[in-house]
Amino acid sequence: MNDADHAAARRELVGALRRRLDVGEPTLSAVGAVPRHEFVPESHRGSAYADRPLPIGRDQTVSAPHMVATMTDLLGVERGDRVFEVGTGCGYHAAVVTEVVGPGNVFSAERVPELAADARARLDRLGYDVTVAVGDGREAFADRPPFDAAYLTCAAPEAVPDAIVDRVRPGGRVVAPVREGGGQRLVRLTVREDGVDREDHGGVRFVPMR
Ligand code: SAH
Repeated sequence: MNDADHAAARRELVGALRRRLDVGEPTLSAVGAVPRHEFVPESHRGSAYADRPLPIGRDQTVSAPHMVATMTDLLGVERGDRVFEVGTGCGYHAAVVTEVVGPGNVFSAERVPELAADARARLDRLGYDVTVAVGDGREAFADRPPFDAAYLTCAAPEAVPDAIVDRVRPGGRVVAPVREGGGQRLVRLTVREDGVDREDHGGVRFVPMR
């Protein structure tokens, strides 16, 4: 596949997402702008625009495009907003959110140093200005709040850690997979002065938060 083939496959994917999902145009054009094939291992490039998760090494996966689009849209962010990501992985999701909020506005923590280093190099090469920190999302960027939104790409145990929720301004959103019963639910929290409002957005499957 050459660049033109990848671009055609990406347009087709965005068309399918537009028909299937209830997400806004800024989210769809962000997915349409990011070269997902540059983020996945060479051996999986041919399926980069299939709507499914792919392995990214170290037993981790990048979510399917529909999940990245859904979560990005749930953040409710716009250009200029600052966003905190827990779980950089290959950097794809951070690139999509950067397309929405603009350069320099995404701060991403990754606990596996090799994944963080690869993501940083890749994002740099592709021109995405994302700040990547190595470490636990509960601790990273503690000096950078308030954020307008935060999201986790690994499943939180029972509830999103307070350390993460506390970094989001009142009115801002936290989107995360959370363990519940035997499975996981995608939840969106809206931060209030005196707590959070919680919405359930269905069953999901993510790698666990460590
Ligand atoms: N957003 C990523 C998805 C990566 S999978 C992408 O676009 O590729 C989830 C990632 O969360 C993994 O890379 C895993 O190492 C990381 N992770 C798990 N627990 C973490 C924690 N406590 N702090 C930071 N990162 C964590």
